[in-house]
Amino acid sequence: MKRSIFWGLLLAVGSLPAQIKIVTPGDSKPLFVVNDVLVQDVANIQPGNIESVEVVKGEAAAKKYGPDGRNGVVVIKTKRPVQVNYRDPKMTEIWEPKPPKVTPGGNWGAPPSDAIILFDGADLTQWQSARDGGEARWQVADGAFTVTKGTGDIKTKRTFGDVQVHIEWRAPSVLEGEGQGRGNSGIFLQERYELQVLDSYESPTYPNGQAGSIYKQHVPLVNATRPPGEWQSYDIIFVAPKFGGNGRVVSPGRITVLHNGVLIQNNVEIWGNTEYIGLPRYTPHEKGAIQLQDHGNPVSYRNIWVREL
Ligand code: MG
Repeated sequence: MKRSIFWGLLLAVGSLPAQIKIVTPGDSKPLFVVNDVLVQDVANIQPGNIESVEVVKGEAAAKKYGPDGRNGVVVIKTKRPVQVNYRDPKMTEIWEPKPPKVTPGGNWGAPPSDAIILFDGADLTQWQSARDGGEARWQVADGAFTVTKGTGDIKTKRTFGDVQVHIEWRAPSVLEGEGQGRGNSGIFLQERYELQVLDSYESPTYPNGQAGSIYKQHVPLVNATRPPGEWQSYDIIFVAPKFGGNGRVVSPGRITVLHNGVLIQNNVEIWGNTEYIGLPRYTPHEKGAIQLQDHGNPVSYRNIWVREL
C-alpha cells in the first residue's frame, strides 16, 4: 500500500528564539538524520547553522534507513557540529550503502629502520593492562598474542602523538557470534579513537561499525577484509587532534588507513571520542597510548610497529 506524505519545513531564521518546525500529517513521526547520524530530534539545531535540508520518502527511505524510515527521513547537514543526546545505540548505526568488496593482494609490513617495535612476536613488555596499569595478561604464542576474554584492554606503555602504525590482526577461524559479536576487537589511537577490528568477511553489521570503520564515524571506502583465520594488516597514518585554551579544538584528528594494502579511510576527520551511544565529542588530552580492545572474542595480533611523525 502506497502512502502519500506531504512535508512542510518551516525555518524561522533571524527571529529569537530561533526554531525549526517540522509539519507532518497525523501522527507519523519521521526519522531525523543530522550529519549522517540518526538522531532523536532536531530541537537543538539553530536554523542559522543549517547547511542543507533534504527529505527522503517511501521505499528509498526504507532501503537506506531501514523500516523506520518509511515515515520519511529529514536529512540535515549543519555548518558546525551540533550536540544531541541519544539513548539508543541504534541511533548511530548506518546500514546503507554497504562498501563494495575488494580482494586484497599480498601482505607486506616489515618494519623500517626507524620504527619503534611494539611487538615482534616475543613478549608483551611494551604493553600493560589498560584497566590497572599492571601486566598485560593476553596470551602470547606462535609469534602472536591473543585477546584473553575478561582481562580487559591492553595499551602501550609509551604514548604517542602523530604516528604511522603497522599492525596485523586475525579474526578467529572458529565462527562464533555474528555482527558485532564475531571477531570484535579494536585499535584505539590515543586510547579514544577506535579503528574497528571485526570479522567483516561475510558477517553483516552496520557499515559504520564494520572492520576498517572509524567506529560510528566513518564507513570504510571498500571492504578489503580477508576470511577469518587469515592474517591481515592495517597501515595507519594518524594526525592527533590539537587543543587550545578552554578545551577548544584547534584542529581535529585525522586518519588514513590501508587495509591489506587497500585504501579504506582517506584522511578523514575524526569527530571526537568513539562513542557506542550518542555523538562523538572531544575531550582535551595529551599524547596517548595505542590501546587494543578486549571485546570478549579471541582476536590475535602480531608485527606491530610505529613511526613517530
Ligand atoms: Mg571493537
